[in-house]
Amino acid sequence: MTTIGDNLQQVRARVAKACKSAGRDAAGVQLLAVSKTFGPEAVRDAHAAGQRAFGENYVQEALSKIEALADLRTELEWHCIGPLQSNKTRAVAEHFDWVHSVDRLKIAQRLSEQRPAELPPLQVCLQVNVDGGANKSGVTPAEAMALASAVAELPRLRLRGIMAIPEPAPDFAAQRDLFMRAAVVFDDIRQAGVALDTLSLGMSADLEAAISAGSTMVRVGTAIFGGRPQPAARSG
Ligand SMILES: *Cc1c(COP(=O)(O)O)cnc(C)c1O
Repeated sequence: MTTIGDNLQQVRARVAKACKSAGRDAAGVQLLAVSKTFGPEAVRDAHAAGQRAFGENYVQEALSKIEALADLRTELEWHCIGPLQSNKTRAVAEHFDWVHSVDRLKIAQRLSEQRPAELPPLQVCLQVNVDGGANKSGVTPAEAMALASAVAELPRLRLRGIMAIPEPAPDFAAQRDLFMRAAVVFDDIRQAGVALDTLSLGMSADLEAAISAGSTMVRVGTAIFGGRPQPAARSG
């Protein structure tokens, strides 16, 4: 078994254990493997170990990877999880299956207009900024309801849920509190009658706290593929 295959087994075990602690069914939490900065061969290794859903932050990098893995296209699900600029929406609408980072109606409208008719609707989560921290992407919890209602009406999108990336917190309880803010937004929108099923919360360092707060999809990079080079280190 490859290192990536081993790592995947360990992450699956962590997810299962966290679900057990939270009294949840492990089938209710999907694993998204975040392959940003890693090449197509790493994705092939993960696919060989049974992984199907992959997350990417940078559109250009993702497009070349998707092309290099065209032979596996029908078996892979590509999720765009990075900040989205208007000039990248067409490429995302044409090549991805999911987008987690929608935080403006204008971006959602472009994605809907640009989604090719022969593809299924693009699956979408709204990014919510739950702590106003250094990560400035995302709508405020107060703005989320109006955006959800508007996005739910767009013909070529299917609104699935909420995504959040809270700042790192000092311990499990503090991290869980931040994730719970996203869970509250998710529940409020559902109670208003918008059908959501996806709460995209949790990464390598905090997936247990996310699962205890109700995450249905954890986005895990480092724990599967290893450490990424730090961009700042290159200038030294
Ligand atoms: C990079 C990234 C991840 C994965 O983070 P790890 O700490 O490597 O697990 C998850 N979500 C988003 C939005 C990311 O940018």
